[in-house]
Amino acid sequence: NSDTMKTTPSLDIVIVGGGLVGGLAACALAKRGHSIRLYEYRSDIRVEESSGQSIDLALSVRGREALKLVGLEEKIVNHHGIAMKGRMLHGKDGSLREMIYDSVKKNCIYSVSRKYLNQVLLDAADQYSSVTLIFNKKLIDADLDHGKLKFIDTNNREIVEVNADLIIGADGAYSTVRRTMMKRPGFDFSQTYIEHGYVEVNIPPRMIDEKHSNKGVQFCMSSKHLHIWPRGSFMMIAMPNDDYTFTGNLFAPLEILNSLDTPEKLVKFYEQEFPDVLPIIGNKQALIDTFFTAKPKTLISIKCSPYHCGKSIILGDAAHAMVPFYAQGMNAAFEDVVLLDELLDHYKDDINKALPAFSRHRCSDAHAICDLAMYNYIEMRDLVMRKSFVARRNLDTILHRLWPNSWLPLYSTIHFSRMKFRDCIANREWQNKVLSRCLWCLGLLTLAIFIASATLPSIAY
Ligand code: FAD
Repeated sequence: NSDTMKTTPSLDIVIVGGGLVGGLAACALAKRGHSIRLYEYRSDIRVEESSGQSIDLALSVRGREALKLVGLEEKIVNHHGIAMKGRMLHGKDGSLREMIYDSVKKNCIYSVSRKYLNQVLLDAADQYSSVTLIFNKKLIDADLDHGKLKFIDTNNREIVEVNADLIIGADGAYSTVRRTMMKRPGFDFSQTYIEHGYVEVNIPPRMIDEKHSNKGVQFCMSSKHLHIWPRGSFMMIAMPNDDYTFTGNLFAPLEILNSLDTPEKLVKFYEQEFPDVLPIIGNKQALIDTFFTAKPKTLISIKCSPYHCGKSIILGDAAHAMVPFYAQGMNAAFEDVVLLDELLDHYKDDINKALPAFSRHRCSDAHAICDLAMYNYIEMRDLVMRKSFVARRNLDTILHRLWPNSWLPLYSTIHFSRMKFRDCIANREWQNKVLSRCLWCLGLLTLAIFIASATLPSIAY
């Protein structure tokens, strides 16, 4: 039991949702000495049969800081995560091009299994005597001013009513807590479904000669990279798992995904667009089996403001679901928990002060990363192949090497720092301004030299 000494009056907190943020928030708030009941709609993922899908997530500094807060960074990163030092771009002709994320400080992002992470967080929360985990309970209504919640038991349809000093809405992109907030005047909300969706594709390990390895299997591509097959209007990516498989995702306009509705069309598409993928998946049938396991999924981006109302606050996807292209949904969601913890520290657990401060600090920042995530899709599927992008990236790397602490490329500020997201954008805009001024100066200098060299000889004579 890792309970800490209570220094402030304990709050009776109800967390709605036992996903990544719910599990983490339970640990962080129990560590502060509060009493937690966590209600989750699904059954306990620690005991249920595997869903068969092995979605993995890229973890970076913001997420790591949060895991450190609850004492789990070492377990997740060192014992489970697979370090990815850069992108590996796959051309249509089978060519490979490496793009290191941080060649100066050698920072990496880590591939972690969503299910494993969720299990570890729930297990850690369960270790606190002040935490109760309650499964198969779906929130159906809430009175956020008075801290009253109504759940339905998904097994016997019984209604359960509970009270709380503080309600944490960690119930994901389709949050019921947020829906309740939306009825209030002054609550801003917008959602966008992008035209693109995704299908998951499992890439198995490579079987090798037992004589050369005691495991008999190995990764079929470098496990030190996030693999990308950029194709302009669509792309495939793949991240390594600790069972030597890769989880691939084909992101494309739903029109394209829905048109791949027969095995023949699918195989032809892969032969044309990703000729090097078929051999690593094994054979055509393996591709067909994995691709048609589930229907294409949609992608949503949600912005709202404020994140608090009465005795409640929303965190993670409930507050700011984003498209997954900057791999920041979970990282930013975890950072929410760190920020809430910092503000509770600052305001001595007075939620009347900490909750409004959270909205003040977080809303515009989260909106900024939602926008950046949209931009990064274009970068990943298209820009990475362009010479101008590669040239700018190389220039950024040189300048970062010269001034490692003051010239930070955008990707580094997002993944390898805790700089506010809106400051990351401002920093990038400042860099753009500096570079364009330098270009102007260089242009003027060249012109001046040209004019001088044209006029000087006549002066000499
Ligand atoms: P969720 O994980 O959705 O959890 C919400 C929980 O609430 C669920 O368990 C749900 O059952 C429960 N719930 C819902 N409604 C109710 C209710 N009414 N009552 C009770 N319980 C309820 N992020 C990264 O940082 N890196 C990545 O590489 C990355 N890759 C991604 C790839 C894809 C394809 C997608 C779609 C997302 C990716 N993300 C990534 C984003 C990341 O998955 C989310 O940001 C993260 O899961 C948010 O966690 P959460 O706890 O807020 O929500």
